[in-house]
Amino acid sequence: MQVPLPPSLQTLLEVLQRLPGIGPRSALRIAQAILKKPDLLHRMIEVLYDVQQQIRTCSSCGFWTEGEGLCAICSDPNRTEAALCVVKDASDVLAIEKSQAFRGHYHVLGGVLDPLSGVGEKDLRFTQLWERVRTGAYEEVILALGTSPEAETTAYYIARQLADWHGRVTRFASGIPVGSDLEYVDPLTLSRSLRERQPLSI
Ligand SMILES: [Zn+2]
Repeated sequence: MQVPLPPSLQTLLEVLQRLPGIGPRSALRIAQAILKKPDLLHRMIEVLYDVQQQIRTCSSCGFWTEGEGLCAICSDPNRTEAALCVVKDASDVLAIEKSQAFRGHYHVLGGVLDPLSGVGEKDLRFTQLWERVRTGAYEEVILALGTSPEAETTAYYIARQLADWHGRVTRFASGIPVGSDLEYVDPLTLSRSLRERQPLSI
C-alpha cells in the first residue's frame, strides 16, 4: 500500500522529476536531503530566484549571460571572427571550450529541428544565425550539433539555407558516437573531431 505524502512534498517530487536524469528515486533522495538541511533549502531558494532574475541569453550568440551587453565570449576581443560554430545548447559551448580547440564565435540554436516533438524552424534561433552569417566577416560555419537523426536533419537544413553563401560550411569529423550529445564526449575526441572537420556537401 502506498502512503500518501503531504501535498507540498508530492509537488516537489513531481517538479524534480521534470529535470533531465531525475527519476522517482532520485527525486525522493534530493527532497530528503533538502528537508534535512534548512540552510541548503534557503540557499537554493535564493539561488533559483537570482538565476530567474539575472540569467538571459546573449542577443548575438544565445549563450548565457547576465546584465546588459553581449556575453563573455562575444565580447572577448581575443577571439577570431573567422569561424562561427553552431551548437544545439549552451552546455555544448562549455564542452567545446573545455577542449580548447576553438577560438572563434558560437551560435546557440536552442535545440534541433524535431517535428515529432513540435520543434520547428520558428522555435530555434535561425533568423539570428542567417543575419550573423550574412552580415559578419565569417569565412566558415562549423556545425557541431551532435549525431542524432534530428541533428543531421538540422545540419543539412542549415547547409541548404547557406548554399549560396560565399564561405565554407563544415561539420565535426567522425569520432563522436552516434546519437550522443557533445557534453558527453571527452575533450580530446572533441578537439580531434574539430581539427579534422569535413565540408558538408548537400
Ligand atoms: Zn554571445
